[in-house]
Amino acid sequence: MLVNLKDIFAGGSPIAIAYEMNLSDEEVPGGGFPFSDPVHVTGRIENRAGVVMLHATVQAVRHVRCDRCLSPIHQPMQVVFENVLVTESQGDDSDELLVCAEQTLDMDALAKTNLLLSLPMKELCRPDCKGLCPNCGKNLNEGPCACKPEGHPAFLKLRKFLQ
Ligand SMILES: [Zn+2]
Ligand SMILES: [Zn+2]
Repeated sequence: MLVNLKDIFAGGSPIAIAYEMNLSDEEVPGGGFPFSDPVHVTGRIENRAGVVMLHATVQAVRHVRCDRCLSPIHQPMQVVFENVLVTESQGDDSDELLVCAEQTLDMDALAKTNLLLSLPMKELCRPDCKGLCPNCGKNLNEGPCACKPEGHPAFLKLRKFLQ
């Protein structure tokens, strides 16, 4: 969505933003296409005493797999951000400052960038996920597997007996 900012820069009334964005084709750095559901973008742009501010919220659900146990994760996300919109660079531009030289705002690109920046480095189904047994592949969150000879006294005895 392209937002025309001409009126608001000239002191016009606030602009409300509310729409859905399709990011189902968006591949993320870790691999996969997590945003199969529509992404909701809401926001408001207002001119307060000559300063044009954008407040926006991006809501999405991330469909990914746990990095350790591969089980599916459906994680709702909400990313809130604010920008001061300006028509030309101010020299010492901070992150909050967004230069809209053409007096238009590419809301899709901005929402997408903020959403992708808030993706976690690791996807875990829970902080203490035990992962899969490297030997038999069993999901160890569901309980221990049978192949732990070094840890189980009964197995150690059995091993000695068999040797
Ligand atoms: Zn897991
Ligand atoms: Zn195992």
